[in-house]
Amino acid sequence: MKFDTKVIHAGVKPDPTTGAVMTPIYQTSTYAQAAPGKHKGYEYARTQNPTRAVLEKNMAALEGGYDGICFSSGMAAMDAVLKLLNPGDEVLATNDLYGGSYRIIKTIYERFGIKGHFISFDDPKAVEKHINENTKLIWIETPTNPMLNIVDIKQICKVAKKHNILTVVDNTFASPYLQRPLEMDADLVVHSATKYLGGHSDVVLGVVVAKDKDLADKLHFIQNASGAIPGPQDCFLVLRGIKTLHLRVERACKNAKKIARFLNAHPKVGKVFYPGFKEHPHHKIAKRQMKDFGAMVSFDLYDDSVTSAKKVLKNTNLFILAESLGGVESLIGHPASMTHASIPKKERMKVGLTDSLIRLSVGIEDVDDLIEDLEAALANV
Ligand SMILES: *Cc1c(COP(=O)(O)O)cnc(C)c1O
Repeated sequence: MKFDTKVIHAGVKPDPTTGAVMTPIYQTSTYAQAAPGKHKGYEYARTQNPTRAVLEKNMAALEGGYDGICFSSGMAAMDAVLKLLNPGDEVLATNDLYGGSYRIIKTIYERFGIKGHFISFDDPKAVEKHINENTKLIWIETPTNPMLNIVDIKQICKVAKKHNILTVVDNTFASPYLQRPLEMDADLVVHSATKYLGGHSDVVLGVVVAKDKDLADKLHFIQNASGAIPGPQDCFLVLRGIKTLHLRVERACKNAKKIARFLNAHPKVGKVFYPGFKEHPHHKIAKRQMKDFGAMVSFDLYDDSVTSAKKVLKNTNLFILAESLGGVESLIGHPASMTHASIPKKERMKVGLTDSLIRLSVGIEDVDDLIEDLEAALANV
């Protein structure tokens, strides 16, 4: 089955009891048993829910894994992955990481004796130098947020395999339509389904997809034991969103390409960060491992002033000033004060995340309207 068919059909069958074409929302906390212990595979809704199970099978098919395991948010999905570790274990992660991912390692897991190291993944050989006997997990995020660096998944996984280290890829920015890390030898994929998978800015949910049964079993155990499960209504919304994933992402990528070109030619714009540009330092890797270059574009202003950046942020009409990304509507954000405020300025500056950086999540509106909106906002600078 091809990807564009999988989004609609994989793991999804008409409901066996009624024939309902759309997966019903099984809004129940428990299930009737015929006799003690005699049931239909469903005992209690933290452990199993049919709506959730369909989403898990669908996600497994999209990423090419053994099973999906759903959580109440992207962070809960990441939390479950970190719970595979033991005190004394260390995580090696990209230094240009989603703010919440950095925060959970630094402020929660370090208290439990799990240490994080945040380094550039540009050079796989340099990554290997940071591996020690306690390194048990390599955390890749690509494209990175908000600098849109690209990590060579295959190369990093190769290094990890050599040292018997688990690799996980946060695939939120790409979505499985653009990039499938398990096919490049990663062990786990995590998603904030809140973004492209849900796609309509109306739900918070997380997914882990495991490559093999052993990892899937461990994560299902953590899912049930720790209990950060999503509700059935949220699973339904993500399932519904996924049905148009290929169309939405394709269109958003097309729009982003045009917007990146427009910004690059604008006299008031400084640097534009977009992996689709030939001049982007990781363009070749992106071209190799992604179907298209994504719909996130970051840029700063020629005068590099926070005041100017704030003028742009305040003066768009179609681009809504908001956190998050991956929805049908275009969003504009200021990473330094919004999504990445929990990262110390010194750390931010190391990766080029300046105070004047602006991040766009390009939606699926008419691109001419979007460009006109940015043009008008930039006129205020
Ligand atoms: C949003 C996001 C997360 C966290 O997901 P939530 O659903 O908000 O908990 C993790 N990683 C990336 C790259 C994200 O954009």
